[in-house]
Amino acid sequence: MDPEEFRRAGHAVVDWIADYWATLGQRPVTSQDPPGALAAALPAGPTAHGEPVAALLADLDALVTPRLTHWQHPGFFGYFPANTSGPSVLGDLVSSGLGVQGMLWASAPACTELETVMLDWLAGLLGLPERFRSTGPGGGVIQDSASSATLVATLAALHRASGGRWRQVGVDRRYRAYTSTEGHSSIEKAARIAGLGGDGVRVVAADPQTLAMDPDALRAAIRADLAAGDVPAIVVATIGTTSTTAVDPVPQIGAVCAEYGVWLHVDAAYAGAAAVCPELRWSHAGLEYADSYCFDPHKWLLTGFDCDAFWVADSAELVEALTVLPEFLRNAASDSGAVVDYRDWQVPLGRRFRALKLWFVLRWYGVEGLRAHVRSHVALADRFAARVRADDRFVLAAPHPFSLVCFRLAAGDEASAGLLERVNATGRVFLTHTRVAGRFTLRLAIGSPLTTQAHVDDAWELLSEAAGR
Ligand SMILES: *Cc1c(COP(=O)(O)O)cnc(C)c1O
Repeated sequence: MDPEEFRRAGHAVVDWIADYWATLGQRPVTSQDPPGALAAALPAGPTAHGEPVAALLADLDALVTPRLTHWQHPGFFGYFPANTSGPSVLGDLVSSGLGVQGMLWASAPACTELETVMLDWLAGLLGLPERFRSTGPGGGVIQDSASSATLVATLAALHRASGGRWRQVGVDRRYRAYTSTEGHSSIEKAARIAGLGGDGVRVVAADPQTLAMDPDALRAAIRADLAAGDVPAIVVATIGTTSTTAVDPVPQIGAVCAEYGVWLHVDAAYAGAAAVCPELRWSHAGLEYADSYCFDPHKWLLTGFDCDAFWVADSAELVEALTVLPEFLRNAASDSGAVVDYRDWQVPLGRRFRALKLWFVLRWYGVEGLRAHVRSHVALADRFAARVRADDRFVLAAPHPFSLVCFRLAAGDEASAGLLERVNATGRVFLTHTRVAGRFTLRLAIGSPLTTQAHVDDAWELLSEAAGR
């Protein structure tokens, strides 16, 4: 494909995406096809001779989009949002076109420097503590996901807890990780990969009302492990848990971590985006205690997957934990110590130019545009929750500080599960569920940029009708 062919095909693809977004609301949110439908519709192998891009676009329409769950659909209320936006797609397109490898500063200087600056911008946008800025020992980096952020935080924490021994000898003691009953599954996955084992994760009790970690229970767990000769390595606190968006008491948790010298990682994968609004920054209290913090711009900040923003207060510990320098990567810039080599801040060696999509998003929307985006969803969640609260057939299952509302039917689990199935079968909305205190609970997560008040009102009408008497 020469540049002129690319230009023509590229325009057609951009048109195709614009048409997809413009017509999304008219499609069913989810596919009704059985598993295997797409696989059965595809040929057994590639064509012998090349085809035009137009043939591919036709098959996207005929075969692929009818069999998708449409995450950008205005009626998509499942999981957490994974919203994207025009500027994000365009920034990513530029990244694809440049095709650079940002493993070292020397391999892609602007890729590294733009990333450092974007993470500083983001730290300012969220009002994060100064210690995370690149102007001191700290700094930020883009990971593919919050799961990877938790993994590298766990590795750096092991490095610290072992006094640097872990790097050479591996896991030679019983190191422990702590999170609450509401912590994300990626914490156990990180512990398994890091060699702590699933049993190395201490699951600390949460307050039954707020579902936030109980800091006294955390202290008790750390003391018990120390008494048994084990080594507390990392505490993972959550701002905005996945199930219900509970906010752990980071100031108290941070004080416990400081008392025992344990690494504190704060996982704000979804709710971190809320901190762009000063009125929602209460959720980030205590962050000055954190050794590391992450959130996913790919969830609620209009930046397409994948983009996790991860900061450390002291990058030296992270780099010491992860660096391996083979001869073929040696270069004068790295040797000078004057540059950042992001390969040492993550698990893979290679990395894409993901800072571009952040740059496009931050410049297109501006601070006020991003605040308006978050605020509109918080207001819509409030409006929806008020309706749930006012209807005696429904029960609000948890507080709703951000844009997720958790609710159930007073009639019980079976009725709630049936309701979820019926509304999702309409194809107009898509909700997912969780369990809160053992009870089946519906989750309505607002986050698509296309979702307006009319869509949230429509979701309520559907739920209300389907709930019966
Ligand atoms: C979504 C989520 C994760 C995992 O996110 P990925 O970026 O997909 O790895 C981790 N923690 C919390 C609290 C989440 O909500």
